[in-house]
Amino acid sequence: MRDYSMIVDRLNKIEIPMKIIGKVSDYPIHLLRLESSTNTSKNILITGGVHGDEPAGIEAVLQFLERDNTELLKKFTFVVIPCVNPYGYVHDTRENSDGVDINRSFETEKISEVAIVKKALGQTQFSLAIDFHEDYETTGFYLYEGKQDEQYIGPEIANTVKSIGPIDTEDSGEDAPDIAQGVYKVASEWGTQGLAPYLLHFHSKHVIITETPTVWPLEQRASLHLGVLDTALTYY
Ligand SMILES: [Zn+2]
Repeated sequence: MRDYSMIVDRLNKIEIPMKIIGKVSDYPIHLLRLESSTNTSKNILITGGVHGDEPAGIEAVLQFLERDNTELLKKFTFVVIPCVNPYGYVHDTRENSDGVDINRSFETEKISEVAIVKKALGQTQFSLAIDFHEDYETTGFYLYEGKQDEQYIGPEIANTVKSIGPIDTEDSGEDAPDIAQGVYKVASEWGTQGLAPYLLHFHSKHVIITETPTVWPLEQRASLHLGVLDTALTYY
């Protein structure tokens, strides 16, 4: 079992307005809003911990919140949900307490975590939404990208962050058409069951899912996630 209070303690130390948007199995799900210093900002959504056994995404989100984002806040407002699946995080399971994969459940409102996230997002529109994941089977990183205008930047992002760790060379094996090596399209056949495809359909012109190999050290996985985020933001 992992200790969720370690995450809550780190969040409490950050001087950013934080809301508890819901609770599952007594664990709070938090949302933080980093308000831009200008009134012309673009909204960016950052999510981690949809799969509870992928802690690097949560670590990356916490590091993002703990660092100085003054420069970025001149252009962006960030909405951040550090851990969508706290039960899964504590119990080291991909699924929630009912054995449900939250990332295949965004077409319903019946799953608590899904209902909580949907309600918290309301009608908010984002320029970019990024969701941090891990892969137990690969040795390199890869990305999924969905973009309403199909002007993909994933290949340039992958090329920039490969100094942190190698791009995965295997096929994704999930019927996702590839854009470039290690960059796959958020496929329209997926519907809106997954968080990122759901966001692409209803909330965001551009979505990225980052996948880091669990065999890398935690710090390297977190760096890769943040490297992708920071590189993507340079395009806005
Ligand atoms: Zn995942």
